[in-house]
Parts: sequence; C-alpha cells; structure tokens
Amino acid sequence: MNAKGPMPADSNDPPVLSFVVPCYNEAANIRALHERLCTVMAGRPETWECICVNDGSRDDTLAILMALATEDPRVRVLDLSRNFGKEAALTAGLDHARGAAAIPLDADLQDPPELVPELVARWREGYDVVNAVRLSREGESLIKRATAHAFYRVFNRISKVPIPEDTGDFRLLSRPVLNALRQLPERRRFMKGLFAWVGFRTTSVSYHRAPRQAGQTTWNYVRLWRFALDGILSFSDAPLRIASYLGLAVSLLSFLYAVNLLAQTLLFGNPVKGYPSLMVALLFLGGVQLMALGVIGEYLGRVYDESKGRPVYLIRHPLEAGRGNAGSPPSSADP
Ligand code: UDP
Ligand code: MG
Repeated sequence: MNAKGPMPADSNDPPVLSFVVPCYNEAANIRALHERLCTVMAGRPETWECICVNDGSRDDTLAILMALATEDPRVRVLDLSRNFGKEAALTAGLDHARGAAAIPLDADLQDPPELVPELVARWREGYDVVNAVRLSREGESLIKRATAHAFYRVFNRISKVPIPEDTGDFRLLSRPVLNALRQLPERRRFMKGLFAWVGFRTTSVSYHRAPRQAGQTTWNYVRLWRFALDGILSFSDAPLRIASYLGLAVSLLSFLYAVNLLAQTLLFGNPVKGYPSLMVALLFLGGVQLMALGVIGEYLGRVYDESKGRPVYLIRHPLEAGRGNAGSPPSSADP
C-alpha cells in the first residue's frame, strides 16, 4: 500500500485521500458538505483534496465551488462542458484524483463524511475497496426503496459480476483500483458494476443513509429505469438469451397447437372456425418478434454508442489545485 502519513500542505504533493463529489444543482449543499468534511478531517493525519465536479449545473453551484476553491486550496473544481450525468461526472472526478485512495461522496450529504475514518481504517488493514453498505435509507419513498431492492436482486441473478447489495457509489477505492478503472474504455459507465468488475480485495462497513439535506433528487423513475437498463445490459446478455428461449417456447407451443388442430380436423372434420385462433397466434407471434427485435436493438444501440468512441465527458474549465481556480471563472449561465 502506498498510503503516506501526514504531509506538508504543499498543493503539488499528492494527498492521501481524494474526495470526489459530483455536483448537479447543489448550491444549497456544497458549503455544508465542505464544513462537515473539514470537521471530520480536522483531527486526522491524512492530507486530502476534494474534487468537486460541476456537472453542468444551472444554479450557483459553479460560483460557490470557485469561491470555496479560493478559500481552501484543498478544494479543486472540475467544470464539465454540460450535464453529462452522474456516472460521467464521477468518472471525471476519479480520473483527476491524485490521492492514494479516493472516496466518492454525494453532494447532498446522503453519504456521511463521518464514516470516512472507518473506511480509512479498513483500507489501512490492507483492503483495496471498502464498500459502504446502507442499513437504512431514510427520507426515500417506499417505492424507491422497493425498486432499488428489486434491482439489486435481479441484477445479481443475471449478471456475471455480482454487485454488493444496497451499496451506492460511496466507498473507498485505493490507487490500484483507480488505475484499473482508468483502463476500462467503455462510454456507458455503470460505475457500481465497474467497481465490482475490477475486483481486488474488498470489504464493507455499514451506515444509515440520511435523507437529502437540501434540494431535490434529479432521479425520477424514468431516469432510474434507464439507469437500471444500462446497468443490466452492460453486465449481462441474459435478455438476449431470454428472447431466444421465449422464441423456442413459442415455437414449441405452436407445434403442439398444430398437432391438436390436425387431430381435431381428422377426428371431427373441418368446420371452418379458425379466425380467433388465427388472430391470437398472429398477434402473439408478432408481439414476441417485436420484443426480441427490441432487445437486440437495445444492445445494438449500445454497440453503436461505443463504436463512436466519443469521450465520456468534456471539461470546460481546466482543473487547477486550489488557488489556481481563482482566475476568471466562467459563470454557469454562459451559453
Ligand atoms: N448528480 C450529477 N449529475 C446528474 C445528477 C446528479 O452529478 O446529472 C449528482 C448530484 O449532485 C449528487 C449525486 O449525483 O451529488 C446523487 O444525486 P441525487 O442525490 O439526485 O440522487 P439520489 O441520491 O436521489 O439517488
Ligand atoms: Mg441524493
């Protein structure tokens, strides 16, 4: 392990810990998060930096981040050129983390910085990944908790790489893991899956997830559904297989039905009565075919996306350590 002890506060030295905070319209939360981080880290030997990724926020997030970076050189700001989504923002932050370990944190204080000492302690024991497992999720609706619960179970049934249940992005990732993550070239980044895919020695600690401190979640059910679909399609080809099995089952049923029809015709003659059954078979087969095509299409669309090879994110404002950000920050209202 290449973790170092206390170091002088020279902003050119890599810190021990890099906190990575994706921020999308989090103006009301950033200062509170920074304060809590400072309080937690005040008594600790590790040097740290906090990489705040502004994911195309439409409020004062960028201005507040810039101000904070001027006051505290440990805060570094990464300004993406537009809203790329949380997974891309997190990727950007992790790519720029210089620490011996990185800890992604949600800006809304749902991931308590108070857990950091525990994460670090397990890391010091020799683990490369320390997951923070949610024991409870306060302030989230029953439906959200139920769908999240179902997602983890479905995912783990059909994915080749299981992801730890009830674990968000809040975890400690050591340098070897960060380097491994950088080698993964995919554009559709389902981070939870990628974290699990790289492996390494993993352990977990548990915590109670607090409700969002201020503002509103941007994850409505449509977005969550797409996110879940992305996760499953990135880590499993089960939907393709299910489509083939479904096709097989339907063919088998149709064959049995044909035998039945033949027997009836031979035994009781043919009293032209086929319309309803014909319609049912036609619509059913049509439906199954469209569904199978849709599944193939979902994968093909992703292949197309990957083949374009566009970068996962674009940075509008170069990241500089601490005071370097003070230059002339572009306002988030710029076109
Ligand atoms: N986030 C982001 N880009 C987005 C949406 C969200 O960087 O397009 C950040 C957001 O600022 C927060 C974290 O991702 O720090 C989690 O978002 P949120 O709290 O809305 O999700 P939830 O906790 O409800 O799953
Ligand atoms: Mg949240």
